[in-house]
Amino acid sequence: PLVLGIETSCDETGVGIVRGRTLLADAVASSVDAHARFGGVVPEVASRAHLEAMVPTLDRACETAGVALDDVDAIAVTSGPGLAGALLVGVAAAKSLAFALGKPLYGVNHLAAHVAVDQLEHGPLPDPCLALLVSGGHSSLLRVADVTGDVVPLGATIDDAAGEAFDKVARLLGLPFPGGPHIDRMAREGDQVAIDFPRGLTSRRDLERHRFDFSFSGLKTAVARWVEARERSGEPVPVADVAASFQEAVCDVLVRKALDAAAAEGIDDLLIGGGVAANSRLRALAGERAAAVGVRVRVPRPGLCTDNGAMVAALGSSMVAAGRPPSSLDLPADSSLPVTEVLAG
Ligand code: ATP
Ligand code: MG
Ligand code: FE
Repeated sequence: PLVLGIETSCDETGVGIVRGRTLLADAVASSVDAHARFGGVVPEVASRAHLEAMVPTLDRACETAGVALDDVDAIAVTSGPGLAGALLVGVAAAKSLAFALGKPLYGVNHLAAHVAVDQLEHGPLPDPCLALLVSGGHSSLLRVADVTGDVVPLGATIDDAAGEAFDKVARLLGLPFPGGPHIDRMAREGDQVAIDFPRGLTSRRDLERHRFDFSFSGLKTAVARWVEARERSGEPVPVADVAASFQEAVCDVLVRKALDAAAAEGIDDLLIGGGVAANSRLRALAGERAAAVGVRVRVPRPGLCTDNGAMVAALGSSMVAAGRPPSSLDLPADSSLPVTEVLAG
């Protein structure tokens, strides 16, 4: 099926078009520059930017794919989770298209879409697979038996998301927002064992209750304390070493827990998705350690890890292929849609 997917859950307006598992177009307009001076995404600014970017991004996707809207078999849209006002713009656009074209509408889960997108690059998802979902708002371990309907959370962050930690640490190092890519780049010049930052929820006691959960807020505080102490003593802050050591602490815990979960579940395929999956150290470390224990790793290319419309089209296409009933045209935007709800009413 030819499926058009719309993503507006945060600051990227994305329109993707797929035929089956073949990606035909992935148009993304980001309002990230408008948020940079605030050091974080401003919801009202994001909503307005989505309104302005929606039609041009739709046009661009259709042009790239060489298809007319009439050719599309189904419309998919992120119905949650995300920023309420931002989601509404995409959901309203998708409903209008579905209604005007007389095509089925699929309201899909943004987090499941971060997993589903990998099919566009690496083919059908292994059943089951273990997904490590790491992004600006989420950090979870999921058991995915069927991305169109069977996603079971095994653990999640109990405080900050991994991407949020990257962004906050970048900020205190004076790097621009969003900080993930800047830390990634700075870390290449630094020494990852220079500073021994804490690995959250890895003590024996914590593992009893939080074996597959994450915590990054203590790490962020530890980095802040370390940097403050340096500044007080008048010594220069070795930004590259701090970035590399911080990044190592995050990636070490993510990979360790993901592989532990894979072993516990008897799963040999690890899929990493979400914006932080673009991180070069996470990709390398996961590859190395997984190979050592016989686990295969799949990570989409960086451009498909951060928010985009192709991921929504990919999940929509899987819904059509699986024969799932479409959503109603009353489909609401649900800012806190749980990950278990892969397809929204
Ligand atoms: P969610 O999917 O939870 O709603 P989101 O939609 O805000 O989050 P994504 O695009 O999935 O966003 O992820 C954005 C996050 O990914 C940001 O926190 C950003 O810093 C982080 N990120 C992007 N590239 C990298 C990188 N190379 N290294 C580390 N973090 C990165
Ligand atoms: Mg973003
Ligand atoms: Fe996302």
